Parts: sequence; C-alpha cells; structure tokens
Amino acid sequence: MDPKILARIDRQIIGDLYLSRTGADFVEQLVDGYGARFGGSDEERAAAEFIRERFASIGVTKAYKEGFECFGWTRQPVSLTVTAPVEAKVDCIALPFCPPGSVEAPLVYLGDGDPQTYVDNRDKLRGAIAMVSTATPRFFHRTMHRGEKLGRALEAGAVGFIWMRGEPGGLPETGSARFNRACEVPAISVSYETGHQLLRWARSGQVRLRIESECVVAPTTSYNVIGEITGAKQPDEIIIVGGHYDGHDISESANDNGAGTAVTVESARALAPHAADIGRTIRFVAFAQEEMGLIGADEYVKAHKDENIVFMLNLDGAGRGTRGTLALQNWSEATAFFRDMLRELYEGHIAVGDTPGLYSDMYPFAAAGFPAATYSSSEPVSGGAPRGYGHTYWDSLDKLNPRALQMDSILVARTILRLATMDQVPLVRKQPADLGARLEQMGLTEVLRYELRKVPGQ
Ligand SMILES: [Zn+2]
Repeated sequence: MDPKILARIDRQIIGDLYLSRTGADFVEQLVDGYGARFGGSDEERAAAEFIRERFASIGVTKAYKEGFECFGWTRQPVSLTVTAPVEAKVDCIALPFCPPGSVEAPLVYLGDGDPQTYVDNRDKLRGAIAMVSTATPRFFHRTMHRGEKLGRALEAGAVGFIWMRGEPGGLPETGSARFNRACEVPAISVSYETGHQLLRWARSGQVRLRIESECVVAPTTSYNVIGEITGAKQPDEIIIVGGHYDGHDISESANDNGAGTAVTVESARALAPHAADIGRTIRFVAFAQEEMGLIGADEYVKAHKDENIVFMLNLDGAGRGTRGTLALQNWSEATAFFRDMLRELYEGHIAVGDTPGLYSDMYPFAAAGFPAATYSSSEPVSGGAPRGYGHTYWDSLDKLNPRALQMDSILVARTILRLATMDQVPLVRKQPADLGARLEQMGLTEVLRYELRKVPGQ
C-alpha cells in the first residue's frame, strides 16, 4: 500500500478512536443489557443480535451470525455439607458442566496440585472428593489449568472435585469443568477461607463431605457473530480478528471478555470507512461459548477450514491496560516481524513471543494449522491472583479503563490494516501435526489427554 494512503488512514483511525467513548459505552450496553451472556443462554443469543446490529450500523460490508448446536449448562442449586467430624453446611458454587447428582466421600486436599501430588495420594484419592487450589504449583515448571488438575484427580479415581481459590479474599473462582461435555463427577468451587475451614476440621478427624447438585446439562444453540469488510483486491485471503463475547453466569464478565469484544467492534468501526483501500477480507468475529470449551471458535474452524485464512488474531483479554502481550501460536519465525511492526505502532511496551496456549479461541485455529496469535493487555499490578477479578462475581464494568480500550482498539485496527494491505503476509499455514509436535515438546499433549481433548494431527 502507498505509504501516504497508509499514513492518512492511520491518522483517521487514531482520530476516530482516541477521543471516542463508543467502546466503553458498548461494554456498558452489553453488560447492562445482556448480563453475563452465558454460553447457550437467552442472554447470549440476544447479545449476538445486539452485536450483529452494531456491526451493521458501523457500515461493514456484511454483518451476520453463524449458529451451531452444542452442549449447554444451567446453574441450579448445589450444596456442600460436612457430615464428619462436625455437621455443617458451607458455601460453594457449581462449576459449569457440573452434572446433577449427589456424592458423599472423604476429603483429600492436594494443595496446589502439581503432577506428583496425584501420584503420592493415589491410594487416598480413589473414591474421595479431591480439593485442589487454583494457585500455580510452586514446584513445577509450568502453570496448570483447572482442567488438567481436575483430569488428573479423576484419573486417580476421585468421585468429586472442589476448586479452592488460592488467594485470601479472592472469591470462589468459576470455570467450566470440562470442554463441551458434562463432567463425570460433581465439581464445585469454594473460597480460600472456606477451603481453610475444611482443612481446620480435618485436624480433628477425617472430613466427610456430601455434594448435591441439581444442575442441568442439555443441548443448546449459540451464534458466532461476524462483521466482514470484504477485500477490495484479494477477497479470498481472510484475516480473522476477534474474541469471545460470552461470559460466566455469576458476573458481568466486563473484563473477560466484554473489553475484548469492544476492541473487536471498535477496530471494525475504525476500518469500515476505508474498505475501498483494504485488499484482503477482514472478518471481525465475536465468538460464542468460549468459556464452555472454545466451542464457538471450534465450530468456526470446522465450518471454514478450507478457506484461505492467512492470520487469526484473538482478543481475549484485550482492552484492559497499557501493558500488552502478543503470543504467537507456534510461528516463532514471525516474532521479529511482529516485534518490528508493533514497535513502530506503539511507543509503550508490547512483549512479543511465541508460546502456544490451549485455553482461548486462537487454539482451534492454530490446531488446524492457521497462523494465529493472541493479544491481551493489563495494568501493572503487584500481587493479586493470576486472573484478577476474572471468573468471579466481581468481574464488573467499574474495573474497566476506557483509555485502555481506546489504546488497544487503535493498536489492533492499525495492525490489522497493515496485515490486510501489505503485499505478502509473511505467515504460512502449517500442518496440525506441527503444533502437535510442539505441544509434545512442551509437555502439553498429556494435558490435552487429561482434559479429554484431541491432540492436533492425531
Ligand atoms: Zn476470556
């Protein structure tokens, strides 16, 4: 693209987004109008229509929804009762995909749940309710997701699962127990304080617990929402940019991921007037059902696997702060390209690296071999939990910084503008097995197996 035209569009993007409140207003309308947008709920489907209308109103070429069927889950009463050595009812919440049913069993506490813990406690875990902390294991070389800790406990024979918050005052943390399927056993979450009360009781004798759940797992319909700027020169070369709009039912899910949805819509709004100058097709996608197991992105990839998707940029966690991270998903050869581009676009610090991840919407794309990356940002904080307020009651609008939304929308719009207009995008599609081999190297294929997920290329 002619550098003069690029500079002109850049100035208009910055002018449009820098002083605009539309991103912050959008998140406010989303959370106040549609609540949590929990996967498969009426709220999620109504939010899909709201986002489609927003795309249509900002003048993209096409605004449409793509529906799919999957499993959904409805929160119903769940209880945690101590039956020995005292009798008490304690507070808990169900994890999504907790099945209906009841179980009574002794408690086994696994601390931060590094892999060795399940081996050491193998005899005790059979027929027990396992309680594991959300904390990152201190004596292991990588983080461990909820799904892996649950999978390892179940493989060792646990008949119930308690996800205990790792930090004091941190509220019980939610998160789906399984990916797009009912969990095999009741799975609940408690606060750090409740967990420690259980551990105090354990000092005077074996703690026995009863978990009773009336939660419901049933088929449902959800919609990915797409705003498309059809390419003026190479319409078959497609860039996907977007993040999930569904949230967890216990909160407004303003940060995770109302903010990333706003960055998606705002960057579309800034680029739509320049469609005539944009060579490649850009699809801005608000993905459904991420929190229930990346289901929306998975369905999108299934439906579009034969298209020429030249790049996918995931925006889960974008729009939250001034410190950005761009993580490529097994395209280390492209780190210098992105580092140089982002250095030119933004004087603040954006860390660029190549670290494949398993837990957001870029994963199904990378697993199909499409070049992919995930962008997120945060404010510098000391201490606190890895997720901040995410996945708790208090992921609410008041924590969002409108300035961060503006800055990330500008950054994403300008990045996508370059990718959509440069002569050749220096990224090539790979084989699914390439990511499979990389994950094997990182010790992550066994994680996929514990989570009952497929290994790419197998
Ligand atoms: Zn998220």
